[in-house]
Amino acid sequence: MSALPKRRISHSRKNNRRSHHSLKPIKLVSCPNCSAKMLPHNACNNCGKYNGKTVLPI
Ligand SMILES: [Zn+2]
Repeated sequence: MSALPKRRISHSRKNNRRSHHSLKPIKLVSCPNCSAKMLPHNACNNCGKYNGKTVLPI
């Protein structure tokens, strides 16, 4: 037995498999404190606040 595939994968099957591989644009929300763009569920890099509390030293 060889480790080679018996049939080649068609273009269609290959492309279908890769249909989930595309990169999505990163989501940004604006900070409720300073309204700078920031990643959701992360402390703000501009004012260092998360959920109204200062969690990062600025
Ligand atoms: Zn902020």
